[in-house]
Amino acid sequence: MKTIAVLGSTGSIGVNTLDVIKDHPSLFKICALAAGRNIELLAQQIERFKPKCVSVIDKKAAGALREMLGPAKDTKILFGTEGYQEIASMQEVRMVVSAIVGAAGLLPTITAIEAGKDIALANKETMVMAGSLVCKKAEAKGVKILPVDSEHSAIFQCLAGQDRKAVRRIILTASGGPFRNFSLEEMIRVTPEETLKHPTWRMGEKITIDSASMMNKGLEVIEAQWLFDVNIDQIDVHIHPQSIIHSMVEYVDGSVIAQLGNPDMRIPIAYALSYPERLHRPGGAVDFFRAGPLEFFEPDDRKFPNLRLAYEAGREGGTLPAALNGANEMAVAAFIERRIRFTDIPEIIREVLNRHVTKEVPSLDDILEADRWAREEAKQYMKEINH
Ligand code: MG
Repeated sequence: MKTIAVLGSTGSIGVNTLDVIKDHPSLFKICALAAGRNIELLAQQIERFKPKCVSVIDKKAAGALREMLGPAKDTKILFGTEGYQEIASMQEVRMVVSAIVGAAGLLPTITAIEAGKDIALANKETMVMAGSLVCKKAEAKGVKILPVDSEHSAIFQCLAGQDRKAVRRIILTASGGPFRNFSLEEMIRVTPEETLKHPTWRMGEKITIDSASMMNKGLEVIEAQWLFDVNIDQIDVHIHPQSIIHSMVEYVDGSVIAQLGNPDMRIPIAYALSYPERLHRPGGAVDFFRAGPLEFFEPDDRKFPNLRLAYEAGREGGTLPAALNGANEMAVAAFIERRIRFTDIPEIIREVLNRHVTKEVPSLDDILEADRWAREEAKQYMKEINH
């Protein structure tokens, strides 16, 4: 029986994780859940999984949850950063599913690693912001980091049992998002609603916007660089609109190994939870007779500059990827609130990267400071362009 804590239990990955876990009550037990403000859904999850302990975003949400659960419930309710960190390091937890969205997921994930918990990693910002540091800590603690992101799960599977020195390149696939066939002029006018209509995957808001702008792929390239210990220029991105091939690894002898599956996050989640074994899952795999042709295109840098910006940040390393991520989170939030246009997102990130003075071998504090600094710079620059 594997005891599990889910950080971000009410988000898209969290909900899918609990869906996998509920089908295998003899293999997994939920010890703790952490959510943000969605206490209605968290209350239902508490009812269903009976965790010992939960945490929410702040004191107010904790009070509201306590009221909702009633006095008879013995689930311990925590809140804030300390609450998340306490959950991430609970004695009886063996694996932490790290699925909080954005930079907020970094500290609880590091706490979990320091406490020696294996990590099912869905929060890509952990690796983007602090890849070098996180890898060192995980190695020192003997902690396994199992990728949940579908592309990284695919690469992980394609590398299994292979000679790592024989890897020539990694091919990360991308759906291309809803604006793949839009002109640059059309992209200037797209609304948040259009941006949230992803062609193949059902995901949370922030990651769906990142998918449309290609920043999601950029963040994934940086994440892959750390997870698989490869040079960033050994990673190529191919647009593959059908999202059937989740990524591939090319070897020096010219062989390419790919992992295929339907676009269903429960598949990579199940693999991370049960690795190295595989779970029996209901439903079929890809129906190749119905899947239609599998297509591949080169990414368009002119229309989607975010991908190139991410490569630049990943290549330089240090605090620059944290600055890239912080600027992107601010720009995406501003776009959702209709304060900027879709095409302003890469402009804002580019400007913040230009202004950043990179610290080459950063401490955790340097990384958090770069994140804070980048958010402030992005805010300033958005004021400038809106005047
Ligand atoms: Mg992905």
